[in-house]
Amino acid sequence: MLSVPTRPMANRAPKKKRTGTPHSVVTGGAGFVGSHLVDLLLGRGHHVTVLDNLVTGSVDNVAHLAGHPNFRFIQQDVTEYLFLDTPVDFVWHFASPASPVDYRELPIQTLKVGSLGTHKALGLAKHKSARFLLASTSEVYGDPQVHPQTEDYWGHVNPIGPRGCYDEAKRFAEAMTMAYREEHGLETRIVRIFNTYGPRMRLRDGRVVPAFVSQALSGKPLTVFGDGSQTRSFCYVSDLVDGIYRLMMCRDRTAHLPVNIGNPTEMTILQFAEEILRLTGSRSRIRRAPLPKDDPRQRQPDISRARKILKWAPKIVLSEGLRRTIDYFCGQRRGNPV
Ligand code: UDP
Repeated sequence: MLSVPTRPMANRAPKKKRTGTPHSVVTGGAGFVGSHLVDLLLGRGHHVTVLDNLVTGSVDNVAHLAGHPNFRFIQQDVTEYLFLDTPVDFVWHFASPASPVDYRELPIQTLKVGSLGTHKALGLAKHKSARFLLASTSEVYGDPQVHPQTEDYWGHVNPIGPRGCYDEAKRFAEAMTMAYREEHGLETRIVRIFNTYGPRMRLRDGRVVPAFVSQALSGKPLTVFGDGSQTRSFCYVSDLVDGIYRLMMCRDRTAHLPVNIGNPTEMTILQFAEEILRLTGSRSRIRRAPLPKDDPRQRQPDISRARKILKWAPKIVLSEGLRRTIDYFCGQRRGNPV
């Protein structure tokens, strides 16, 4: 009789029954999205260990957690061997520069954290028999030729362009995550995060939300790149981390396949600039600046999969989310971090 070759089961991580207080490790937990995730996890009773090298993250984002009995911060580069002396139930891999300005300045670190850092984070999850979630990105779709983007679209990425270091690192990270599932039986999740905004973005990280808000608040012209007809869809950060938490906990048999999380309300960058002017009451002008190379023309998540398997949809409308974000940036400018 013919037998079908199967992978040896011996090196598969045993499925673990989770009991007691869960322990979550968040790489990049001092970053914008990571720190909001940490707040959510602590609120749900997790012990949380943050690993962050503070290259683009900031201790200010987790300063309010100092002394919290369930919180631990370790300053470490996740491309180096990760050792933890405690059991771990969940590994959330969020470490990476994520703004186009940051990853253009740090292309090698971006490639390293997406490849070597993902390998180390997966290794930690395997060693601890923990469930692993990769923070991937809509950038895996590149400058998309399918609109809106569904998870089964393979993307249109220039590997050697200015965004290649980020896009390809995340595509590699997705492949590595699937390989660990396949070869080691690790429980894995992949979230593809679309444009997200909210408090704790860095005023000068170069992304469009902090750029336009800080320009509007200081009366400087808003720099619209190109003719401003390129589109984006903006998701408020609390909606995003709610969707991510649901994905990690989801037991659907397809939960290991990528899930888009984002807000499907799409607008042009010019419309977005006008909305910022309206909400800040600023009298700033709009100034055209050159469109960066490979800037995606359009981006809108298809969230049918998230709706179906996570029962998730965003709740915060743009005007409300922007009001909270503008308040935060006003506090920052006055020197009162929230
Ligand atoms: N953008 C802009 N002015 C800025 C910063 C960004 O017009 O000062 C545009 C950028 O060209 C892109 C969009 O806003 O089309 C979103 O840019 P961001 O850097 O926030 O993220 P991306 O979605 O490109 O990764």
